[in-house]
This record gives sequence, structure tokens and C-alpha cells, in this order.
Amino acid sequence: MTTFENLLLSSPLLRAVAAEGYLSPTPIQAEAIPHVLTGCDLLGCAQTGTGKTAAFALPILQRLVDNPRPTQKHSRKVRVLVLSPTRELATQIGASFQTYGRHTGLRQVVIFGGVSQQPQVKSLRAGVEIIVATPGRLLDLLNQGHVDLSTVETFVLDEADQMLDMGFIHDIRKVVARLPRQRQTLFFSATMPAEIRQLADALLHRPVKVQVAAESSTVESIAQSVYFVDQRNKPTLLQHLLRTDAVGRALVFTRTKHGADKVARHLAKAGIRAEAIHGNKSQAARQRALEKFRSNSPPVLVATDVAARGLDIDRVSHVINFDLPNVPETYVHRIGRTGRAGASGIAISFCGGPERGDLKLVERLIRKSIPVRTDHPPYAANLPPAVAPKGRCRSAGPRKYHR
Ligand code: AMP
Repeated sequence: MTTFENLLLSSPLLRAVAAEGYLSPTPIQAEAIPHVLTGCDLLGCAQTGTGKTAAFALPILQRLVDNPRPTQKHSRKVRVLVLSPTRELATQIGASFQTYGRHTGLRQVVIFGGVSQQPQVKSLRAGVEIIVATPGRLLDLLNQGHVDLSTVETFVLDEADQMLDMGFIHDIRKVVARLPRQRQTLFFSATMPAEIRQLADALLHRPVKVQVAAESSTVESIAQSVYFVDQRNKPTLLQHLLRTDAVGRALVFTRTKHGADKVARHLAKAGIRAEAIHGNKSQAARQRALEKFRSNSPPVLVATDVAARGLDIDRVSHVINFDLPNVPETYVHRIGRTGRAGASGIAISFCGGPERGDLKLVERLIRKSIPVRTDHPPYAANLPPAVAPKGRCRSAGPRKYHR
């Protein structure tokens, strides 16, 4: 069995990893770490939940430690840039670098929009080796002359598919134009459609490819099931499950921001404590909700996909798809929030009549049919006859909705 020791990590990192309680590397860590240590480019097809952050953070830190630069005050140069699609994910990656690098003396800053830029500028002035950033604010600071990326040795693009979904492609290109041509690039994406491959081809030089799970794979340890339930009865069914299904911590997904608020309100009315997070909430409010959920108070978090993707939330016992996603890959991402790093989990989906087509697409993607649960409370069982997704052109691309 591979151990962190025989991946040739040095004592400051081994101590930090041991303190986190990691016993052995996850498959992506065992595969990626030796390559990243040699300095080569890497194309990683991996979802969050696989341990991919440590798969790049540990060898990056090791290389920084192995090749020190002068560290007198004010002479720290930016040596690593990690780009991430969301503030939450950037914060988590920053926290991981902090955790794994706490015995190394290396400094870092997390840069994202929606908050004052002053503390970020202050950290940059004081000098950092590692920047973790979302593209928009990083470009702002670059344009104001607060950041110099000309000394970057390693560039990480995380969740590239989500970056493209969120329209960051031009920003990414602008940032890349500021990086030295001679560098190591690590590129991670949960899915690899043609557009992502093109971007990877443009950024990577003879990359090593590492794949830990097929795009369509759902973690075996997750028990999946679906209820056919009329849209108007979904709130009742949700309350019923939260009360009776031995739910420890539940992450509930809705399609829309409005839907997330509505579900959280319904639950509150029923005496079940829940928080909602979505893109309309301020950064501070999202962070607060996340922290509270992490400490199980409340044990229910209602989220939209953009707000939740990439979030590192441990020990979620249940993922509940209050609405099925209309992009089937999103189902795989969502349910990956439970059953992480070896733990088992439960994923329950609510499928209204008009969502049957979405369910079919999910089942085709994961290549299995999801068992149907019929143990509804009586008041939630009266689903009208299934409505075939007639007249909806599936090939015209996903329906648009506000997330
Ligand atoms: P990630 O895919 O980077 O979002 O990591 C998912 C979760 O797995 C995080 O909570 C990590 O702390 C945890 N994790 C990462 N590596 C390991 C490991 N080797 N053993 C146990 N847990 C890990």
C-alpha cells in the first residue's frame, strides 16, 4: 500500500497530514503526487471529494520547500497561483494550503470579489508565495498593479469545467497571459468535454494524465433512490424525510435561488432549522451559513448548484435533490457531497412529473436505474400521471434558469 512517506514528502508535510488524521493517500494523491513532484504538467480528471486538493497542494508545497528562495521580509515572490471558480472553493483551497503548509513558513493569500480588496492588497504587499484566487478580483488587482505573476513557477486551474460554465474563459486567458511561459501547469476538471480538452491543449505541455473516476461514475458507497412526487407535495415529503430518515446532516439542492429560500422558509415554519445559500447572498452570509452548517447548527443546508459546488463539507449523511438538475452531470457532482473519502452516504431525489425526462438522462449517464421509493406519507403520494417530456428539445442544450 502506498503511504505518504513513500511518496517522498518531507517531515513538515507528513506531520501536518498526520495531524489531519489521513492514514494513507487517496488514489488521486498516490497517482498525482509523484508526477507533480517531478515538475511535469498534469491533466487531472477528478471530482471534489477525491482528495484532489491535497493531490496538488502537497507536492506543490514540497517543491517550494525543496527549492527555497530568499525569504527576507518584502522579498517574497509569488511562486504558485491557483485559480478556482468560486469564493467558497478558493477559501477551502487556501485553508488546505494553510493546513498542509503550517510547518513550512510559506505564506499565502486568498483573493476573491464581493469583499474589500484592502486586506488582500495588504497581504500581497507583505509578500506571499502562494495565491489562491477567483479570476475576476485577481484581474482587478493585476490591472491595478498590486500583483506580479511574472515569477510564478506552478499554475493550477481547478474545476476548469465549472470555470467555463460560469463564463470565465476570457478572464482565464487574460490571467494566463501574465504568467511566465516556462512554468508547471496542473489542470483539473470533473468532466472533459471537447471545449475543456481544447483549453487543456492550449495550456499544458506534454501532460501526464490522471483519472480517478469516469465522468459518469457515482460513488459505489452512496445509496441512491428516487421518489416520484408532485411538485407541490415536495416540501411535505422533505419534512417527513428529515424527521424520519435518521438524517444526520443534509444538503438539499434546489434549481433556483428563489426555490432555495422557499424551501428553507417552509422548513423553518415546520420547526426544522435550515439555512439557504445561493449566489444572491452576500459573501459574509454564505460563509456564516456554511460555518453554522459545519458545526451542525442547523443540520440542514439548502443550496443551489453554483453555491454548493466544490464545497468541502464533511460527513453529510444525506444529499436530497429537491429538484432534479437538468444537466445530468450535475447529479453526479451533487451526490458526490455525501459518501466522501470512504464514508457511506445516502442520495434521495424528488422527481416531479415534468422531471421524468431529467431522471432518464441521469440514469443514462450513470448507466443504472435508480431504485424508486414508495414509502411516501399518504398526503405526498398522489402524483398525477407521468407527463412525458414531450415537445422539449433535449438536444437544444440545457434549459436556462437562474442559479
Ligand atoms: P477534496 O477532493 O480535495 O475536496 O477532498 C475531500 C475531502 O477528503 C476533504 O475533506 C479532505 O480533508 C479529505 N481528504 C483528503 N485527502 C485525504 C486522505 N488521504 N485521507 C482521508 N481524507 C482525505
